[in-house]
Amino acid sequence: MPVRWIFAEQLGSQFDDGGRMLLVEARAAFGRRPMHRQKAHLYLSAIRHRAAQLGDRVEFRQVERFGDAVDGRDDLEAVAPVSWAARAALRRRGIRMLPSRGFVTSEADFADWMAGRGGRRPRMEDFYRWTRERTGILMRGPEPEGGRFNLDRENRQPPPKSAVTLGLPEPWWPEEDEIDREVRRDLDRWQADGRVQLIGDDGPRRFAVTEAEAELAIADFIATRLGDFGPYEDAVLTHDWVMAHSLLSVPLNLGLIDPLALAERVAAEHAAGRAPLQSVEGFVRQVIGWRDWMWHLYWHLGPGYRRSHNRLQATRPVPRPFATLDTSGVDAACIRHTLDDVRAHGWAHHIQRLMVLGNWALQRAVDPAELTDWFAGAFVDGTPWVMPANVVGMSQHADGGLVATKPYAAGGAYVSKMTDYCGGCRFDPKVRLGPDACPVTAGYWAFLDRAEPHLRGNHRMAQPLAGLRRLSDRDAVVAQERARDLDSEGFGPVPS
Ligand code: FAD
Repeated sequence: MPVRWIFAEQLGSQFDDGGRMLLVEARAAFGRRPMHRQKAHLYLSAIRHRAAQLGDRVEFRQVERFGDAVDGRDDLEAVAPVSWAARAALRRRGIRMLPSRGFVTSEADFADWMAGRGGRRPRMEDFYRWTRERTGILMRGPEPEGGRFNLDRENRQPPPKSAVTLGLPEPWWPEEDEIDREVRRDLDRWQADGRVQLIGDDGPRRFAVTEAEAELAIADFIATRLGDFGPYEDAVLTHDWVMAHSLLSVPLNLGLIDPLALAERVAAEHAAGRAPLQSVEGFVRQVIGWRDWMWHLYWHLGPGYRRSHNRLQATRPVPRPFATLDTSGVDAACIRHTLDDVRAHGWAHHIQRLMVLGNWALQRAVDPAELTDWFAGAFVDGTPWVMPANVVGMSQHADGGLVATKPYAAGGAYVSKMTDYCGGCRFDPKVRLGPDACPVTAGYWAFLDRAEPHLRGNHRMAQPLAGLRRLSDRDAVVAQERARDLDSEGFGPVPS
């Protein structure tokens, strides 16, 4: 019987067929690039908890490099791992790979779906509908529950007026144990030795690292936040970092949750009359739609995708406050608060990632590959497969439209509507010229001005570009943003 080599993204029972296993904790994996301290903690804690749980059935090796544990062995097999690099390493060693697990649809399913499109470009919405039909989740025979597949229109509410928080109960938090304490001691030592570059705060562990903990996190989300998930999916409040989000991306990406079972369970809440359809559909779309979609795009777009796309010629380094998570001197409240959340938790929710940090980087022409690496290290749920399409494609439009048909660029009006950040900011989102000019608003116009030649043929950008052409003070705004000294924030002016 071969020994099953399990990876850090394969820690759940869905990767266990009952035989002997090998689990490797390779220190070098934590020292390659700066990493959020809480991300390193979560991975180490998850690996060590799994090793303790499997007991005699697992050979647990703590080594410098993976090769130290596997070179020269011919008794290994593995479920296909989650990156091009890991699969190539297994192939080089002649290790047999079983089809991947941990997603709702297989790579073969996706290939069939693509083959059936007759050359039409892949679209997430079509893929999502097809997955709904195949799985029967939220379906009444051939019809979607409620008559529509997508209830997004109901799900874009701003935060409730004058609210400081959504007023939901404090989420379930894990209780740290001796394994966490040992991880903390090891990280302190590795950091002191200079073997790892850790960024961010060492907060209490906030995410599930075992199946039992994941079960508690799911039950808590369903009981206390699912109902509000849909309406407030895109809303942000400074003093409510979780809002109604599930906080399940870490256990999902560690392989501790079967996403199909999770989606079925959430759908059952609607069937039982305990949760509104708009929230349930919104959540199901994230899990069986977006998550699987990003996974398949990773393979579909190929191993060179992250490095080979830079359509908007963005070459700036990742800004210092991003790289260090030190926000002292950052005046723009949206950037400061979002980076403060990332520093405190290694997590921020989707709109903070896309419309605050991603939008800022898009406007200021940050190199998309470098930004991808930054997101991967700074966020607790960053994995090799999930970042490229989300960052290079969706957030930076660096692939010219393979992933998203238009750039997710926005001015301060969007931030002001969907968040409470602008109230406490020294800039005014309605002002684009002068000392109070909001760098997100003025930056939006300066971005359009710079990207116009690349976006001219995109019919979805026709309206914003027409707005740019009508702007009476276009030249002055662009000149201001190119000259504006935001250097105290480490950001530099908008490039020409
Ligand atoms: P919820 O809001 O409760 O959503 C439920 C689940 O849906 C998530 O747990 C996640 O598994 C899935 N999901 C939703 N959208 C996506 C998506 N676009 N891609 C993949 N899964 C999705 N997600 C990651 O898992 N890891 C990342 O490193 C990551 N980086 C991102 C970077 C950028 C620039 C953007 C725009 C999005 C990124 N996402 C990433 C997607 C999404 O922001 C996170 O999955 C989500 O914020 C995690 O919090 P949650 O578990 O509370 O999610």
